[in-house]
Formats: sequence, C-alpha cells, structure tokens
Amino acid sequence: MSKKTQLTTSAGAPVGDNQNSQTAGPRGPVLMQDYHLIEKLAHQNRERIPERTVHAKGWGAHGTLTITGDISKYTRAKVLQPGTVTPMIARFSTVAGEAGAADAERDVRGFALKFYTEEGNWDLVGNNTPVFFVRDPMKFPDFIHTQKRHPRTNMRSPTAMWDFWSLSPESLHQVTILMSDRGLPVAPMNMNGYGSHTYSLWNEKGERYWVKFHFKTMQGHKHYTNEEAADVIGQSRETYQEALFGAIESGSFPRWKMQVQIMSEAEAEKTSYNPFDLTKVWPHGEFPPIDIGVMELNRNADNYFAEIEQLALSPSNIVPGIAHSPDKMLQARVFSYADAHRYRLGTHYEALPVNAPKCPVHHYHKDGPMNFMGQQSGNVDAYYEPNSVDGPAEDPQYNEPPLALSGDAGRFNHRDGNDDYGQVRALFNLFDDGQKARLYSNIAAAMGGVPENIIERQLGHFEKVHPDYAAGVRAALDSNAG
Ligand code: NDP
Repeated sequence: MSKKTQLTTSAGAPVGDNQNSQTAGPRGPVLMQDYHLIEKLAHQNRERIPERTVHAKGWGAHGTLTITGDISKYTRAKVLQPGTVTPMIARFSTVAGEAGAADAERDVRGFALKFYTEEGNWDLVGNNTPVFFVRDPMKFPDFIHTQKRHPRTNMRSPTAMWDFWSLSPESLHQVTILMSDRGLPVAPMNMNGYGSHTYSLWNEKGERYWVKFHFKTMQGHKHYTNEEAADVIGQSRETYQEALFGAIESGSFPRWKMQVQIMSEAEAEKTSYNPFDLTKVWPHGEFPPIDIGVMELNRNADNYFAEIEQLALSPSNIVPGIAHSPDKMLQARVFSYADAHRYRLGTHYEALPVNAPKCPVHHYHKDGPMNFMGQQSGNVDAYYEPNSVDGPAEDPQYNEPPLALSGDAGRFNHRDGNDDYGQVRALFNLFDDGQKARLYSNIAAAMGGVPENIIERQLGHFEKVHPDYAAGVRAALDSNAG
C-alpha cells in the first residue's frame, strides 16, 4: 500500500480535510476560522503576475553552449574560450500577442538566452531577425503601441501599424523580413537567432572589437504560409510549445551553430552605414561570419511558471570580455529590460532560482521585499563599502577598456543621411519569384482596411527599394480588392 505524502498548509501544519469546508452544520455557512480554505482562495487570487508588455507568449528550455572555435584573441570572456561548456536557458516568444496568443502567428520572434557563466550571467536577448523596426529608443514605446490593442476598439489595428511604418522608413528592413517567409516559422527550432545589436568584445590587452552574434538553426528553416498557419491555429494554439517540448522530451535536441562577425574600431570608422544602427546588418561579404560553437537545448523546465515565466533576461547582464556598444537601442534596453523585471517580479528577481548565477554572488544591496537571501556580502558586518572587515571589494582588472567618445551633446535627426533602402534591396534580391509573390500577398493581406493615403505612402517606400516590390504589392492589393 503506497503511503502518500502528508498534505500541509504553507506553514507546514498537517491538513486533516481537503474536501470539506468548516461549516455550522451540513447546510453552512462556512466559518471564518477555516484558514485552510481562506489560504487556498487567497493564493488563487495571486496566481498571476503582470505579463510582459511585449514578448508575453513564450516557450523555453535548458541546454548548453559549447565553444569549438577560437576567438581568444578578441575576448577574455571565459564563456567564449575554446572547449568551454556553459549551462544555459533559452526563451523564445512572439512580440505582440498576449500570454494566451496563438503560437503560429506572423510576428517577430524573441530569441533570448541566458548563459550561466563562471563569471556571472551573460544574457543575449535577441530576435529571429538581425534588425529591428526602430533605431532610436525614443520611438520604442510608440512602435509597441501600434502592435498592441487600439484603446477604443480593443482590437489590433493594421491602420496604426502601417501609419507608423510608413512614417518611419527605418522600419522597412524589418517589415520586409516580417512579411517574408521567415516572418512565420513553423517552430522555435526552425529559425535563426540574432543578437541583433552590436556588442563589443575586449581581450586581456584591453583591445576592443565590435561584434554581432548569430545562432543558425541546424534543423533547417521551415515556414508556414498565411493559409497554412490559419489552418494550424484552427487546430491548436500551442504548436510551438508542443514542438519544442515534444522534441526535447523525445530526445531530439535542437541545435544552433553559433557565429560571430567581428569589426575593428578602425573599420567601424569607415563603414558607409552606422555599424551601431539596429536597422542595419553587417554584410557577410565585408564581415564574414566565424563559427565559434554549438548551442543545444536538451532539458525541459519542470515548472513552466518558475523557470520560463519568471526567467528574467536583460542585455544589462554582461561578463568581463563582453560589453555594450554605442547602439542607442541597446543602451535603452540595458535600462528598460531590467526595469521590466523589477516591475514584474520584484526587487530581488535576480535571486529567483532560474535567474540566480551559478557562481558566487557578493554585493551590498540590502533588505527589500521578499529578501530570503540575507546579507549577500558574506559577512554580517560588511553592509557598507569600503569597510575594514574584508568585505567584498572591486578589482580593476574587470573594467572594460575606455571608449573614446566625441561630438557635441544634442538631439540629432536619426533619419538624416541614412539609407533605409539599400540593405532591403539586397534582401529583396535574395528572394526567388515564389518568395517575392508571397511577400506581396502577405503585405496586401496585412493592409486590409488601411486607408488609401497610408497605403500610397508605404508603396512609395517599396518603390524606392525596387519598382518590382511596389508593383507586386499593388497588384496583390488590386487582386484582393477585385
Ligand atoms: P548574404 O547573402 O551573405 O547573407 C544573406 C543572409 O540572409 C544569410 O544570413 C541568410 O541566412 C539570410 N537570408 C537568406 N534568405 C533570407 C530570407 N528569405 N529572409 C531573411 N534572411 C534571409 O548577404 P548580406 O550579408 O550582404 O546580406 C544581404 C541581406 O540579407 C541583408 O540586407 C539582410 O536583409 C539579409 N540578412 C543579412 C544578414 C547579415 O548578418 N549579413 C543576416 C540575415 C539576413 P541563412 O544563413 O540562415 O541562410
């Protein structure tokens, strides 16, 4: 006969009855003193936390990063040294949909990684595309508003989206990728991940290099057409969770080839485009990708909420040898993402098991809500710094090399002198006829109900990329109208 574990209250007291409330006689009413009942009801009311404003719907898993290449001349980061194997966790997501949104929707996918390195956590919070819709963080909240629900109708608004995009030509690169085949991957395993931003690497000699990180799917790209996705969503809204969870559960572990592109500080002075502009890629012909390792996902979370929903990823988490860059969007995300987690999870979000580093942690932050760690300096008398009790102290060897900056402080028009069309043309020219036809029809479908003047303004941008692009979308719009 199996002996079941004793059910207890959260204070550890054994529970005698988990079926019947305490009542005055069999017909009630219930008694206020039935704290087991009250605690159950109170907990239920508190089972939700604020969902992420963006990237609310997600799927994730644990895994490893194995470094096989040698970029030690560029970086001292231990996580990137040859042969290093680092435990990690990934969270993929859609951008716009709420936590219950269908997985197979056309949207950019988040591709966010946390590496538990021996020198602290390194988070690479990227997307499945190498660029983004805006290049100045001043426009980030405005852009996200266009992706979310209209304040009055409480529905998503194609008019708002195309109004904003057509008035923001820097969005054209990302819009084109979103509307192309890669805008609707079949599963997280069938898409690439890109760090997207420019970061920096620095070595033992204090030399800095600019870097882009890429993760190339080893399962092959697979996409749905709009029609296929509508059919899929009609049958299941959870196809990404099913695919990722199921693959790992069955021992078929998805893998990605990790690559970097490296640019010297001197080269960055000479590029025709701003190498810190999030709406631009570094062409492979100029900055060839270098294979440096393999990422594998091989363990499902045991508790989705604890390990995936509470996973807090932020580009603020860097480690010695890896640093930020002048990319304005990156600078803003360093603040914004950590701030989102403080709001969603609380002051000590970094101490939750899934976020906690696997290396020793010693700091002087004190107290605060739900502090279950005590004093993290390792010495109860060391609660300020400097101190005479050998509390944790800094070591200047971990300072990144100084970055020379020049220029007058001010607000500069980020659209001045920027070519928002050339790299989109390079992408358009990669598409075969079938890809182009689907691009046109996907755009025309997404423009349903959008006023004529906004459509014309957007067609003007497509025209500047390539006359075929504008003509193709116009024909698809006409065909939908007819
Ligand atoms: P390359 O031909 O050397 O590189 C093209 C890149 O585009 C490859 O990484 C490829 O990804 C990717 N790609 C291929 N087909 C598509 C598609 N249908 N949708 C989205 N991406 C695709 O040229 P360049 O480096 O000069 O780049 C040309 C254009 O390719 C860029 O303007 C940009 O739009 C796009 N691109 C460039 C990237 C870069 O970092 N340079 C990265 C991704 C896209 P894969 O290796 O998986 O086949």
